[in-house]
Amino acid sequence: MRLIGIMVIAMGLCPGFSPAQEPTKPSTYEMNLMNWQEFQKWVPGRIETVLLPTGTLEAHGVLPNGSDNLAPEALARELAPRLNALIAPTLNYGVTGSLKGYPGSFAISPGAYKAFITDVMAGLAMNRFKNIIVLNGHGGPQTAILQDVAQSVSDRYRVRTLVINWWSLAAEETFAVFGENGGHAGNNETAYIQAIVPEHVHPEWYSKDMATPYPAPKTWSAYPFPSSIGLYEKGQGYPTFDKKQAEAYFRRVNERVFQLISEVIRKWDMAGLYRE
Ligand SMILES: [Zn+2]
Repeated sequence: MRLIGIMVIAMGLCPGFSPAQEPTKPSTYEMNLMNWQEFQKWVPGRIETVLLPTGTLEAHGVLPNGSDNLAPEALARELAPRLNALIAPTLNYGVTGSLKGYPGSFAISPGAYKAFITDVMAGLAMNRFKNIIVLNGHGGPQTAILQDVAQSVSDRYRVRTLVINWWSLAAEETFAVFGENGGHAGNNETAYIQAIVPEHVHPEWYSKDMATPYPAPKTWSAYPFPSSIGLYEKGQGYPTFDKKQAEAYFRRVNERVFQLISEVIRKWDMAGLYRE
């Protein structure tokens, strides 16, 4: 009798025998890897948020040309479990501007990009996500396009949208870790990419002379821009290639973005927006 009693208790504790068979998290957070039957079980009932990384292919000093895709994608992987969000496949092609002429760079016209990302976001809304969070890795005209599209998709489908340009949001983190401002393919972006794919960062190909400070507004403009490393401020933002800084910056940026997303969702919920 005592043995049976122990067995009953053991069966109750073992997850395999538990009466509550419902898993507490999906088998994957990536839409690319998720099957439709599983998707149906989670969205929208138990998962309301999707993260959509987008960037471009563009020269980045001694970093990979796809740095603007790799960064938001890594960010999404870090944050998805914490935000209870799925990750939509990355839109890897974007609106590259003055670095388009560099080898391996790639530019989609603004009109084509806008139409495509509009349909991608509409598709996410039609798949019944309530919160569509765009993690953008690339600046220039792409940021304005995303803001515009996010607003029109929200109006049309009554979903809640948020666009985050991570490197700008994390400006304080750049100062905290490096003690100075950053740059395109500068200290900040180099650190973030080094934390993800150190084997594809090439300090051995770097020289300080590869960097150029961005011009003050209305002073000059060159096309193509003469450097793929652009400093936000003169004399600041050179890559450091320091492993400890890379790890610290990666953690801090992820935390900053996590805080913003959670706070915005909390406030949307508090206001009861689009809950019908
Ligand atoms: Zn970049």
